[in-house]
Amino acid sequence: MAIENKAPGKDISEEDLKTKFPLVAKKSADHSSCFSVAGVEFGGDLIPVMAGPNMVESEQLIVETAQAVKARGAHFLRGGAFKPLSFPYRSEKYTETREQGIAWLKTAKQETGIPIITEVMEERYIDLIADVADILQIGTRNMQNYPLLTAVAKTGKPIMLKRHYGASLRDWLGAAEYVLVEGNEKVILCERGVSVAHTHRSSSRFLLDLQVIPAAKEVTHLPVVSDPSHATFWRPWVEPMALASIAAGADAIMLEVHPDPENSAVDPLQAINFEAFKALMASMNKVAQAVDRRVK
Ligand code: PEP
Ligand code: MN
Repeated sequence: MAIENKAPGKDISEEDLKTKFPLVAKKSADHSSCFSVAGVEFGGDLIPVMAGPNMVESEQLIVETAQAVKARGAHFLRGGAFKPLSFPYRSEKYTETREQGIAWLKTAKQETGIPIITEVMEERYIDLIADVADILQIGTRNMQNYPLLTAVAKTGKPIMLKRHYGASLRDWLGAAEYVLVEGNEKVILCERGVSVAHTHRSSSRFLLDLQVIPAAKEVTHLPVVSDPSHATFWRPWVEPMALASIAAGADAIMLEVHPDPENSAVDPLQAINFEAFKALMASMNKVAQAVDRRVK
């Protein structure tokens, strides 16, 4: 139950559920959305896994990764072609592949049949991206880009809405309501780490807010994904936080997987290799079974 709070604007009040995000709010205690995307069910007993590199660096990398993650049980291939890179400077390796990257994702999908999730940053590229993507990802930095949310919602494609690293659950659900109000009900929420004073490592920018998973589920029927890769920014912490996310009730997991993580063009400290991904699929399935769910 949401608690009536005396400082409106920070946490969620009963009134918010009725007037600020009535479509996102649960209609009853056991209300939870279950829908299928490219034949994969979200919100049911399966916990879908989305895996792939941070960036669609080359055709060879993305096709090889698609084959490898599919063979190891991933349900979706992830990878950014249009990417919000934190600083404007580019090198030959550290550069978005944009239209070319979308074409490579299409090749990976054609060659393996794996469905695709990739990010949309600008309205003008929505049609190009929606042509190959089964799920459109809105990144942390665009969570409150309301015109973009309205435009992606209108495609009717499933939307994965990453939580801004500084946003309250209230603001995150408010952003999701912008998609539902357009008649698009296939919204997946994604926790990807929040900005806090201490992250236990100088290179880790964020802290996985595990607590937001049960907190979100108290008030919304939408599925909640956890992205321990972006949250921890540190390979050795990805496995424990993926397992903890499943124990906490996550409905899906997003993971950065790269054939050669140390040489990943972006975020080399957080990606895991194919072997680690295989082992993680097995350990995630064990934890999933303990909470009456499954990864495979
Ligand atoms: C990503 O998923 O590659 C990404 C850029 O994530 P975020 O928006 O959470 O930083
Ligand atoms: Mn990334």
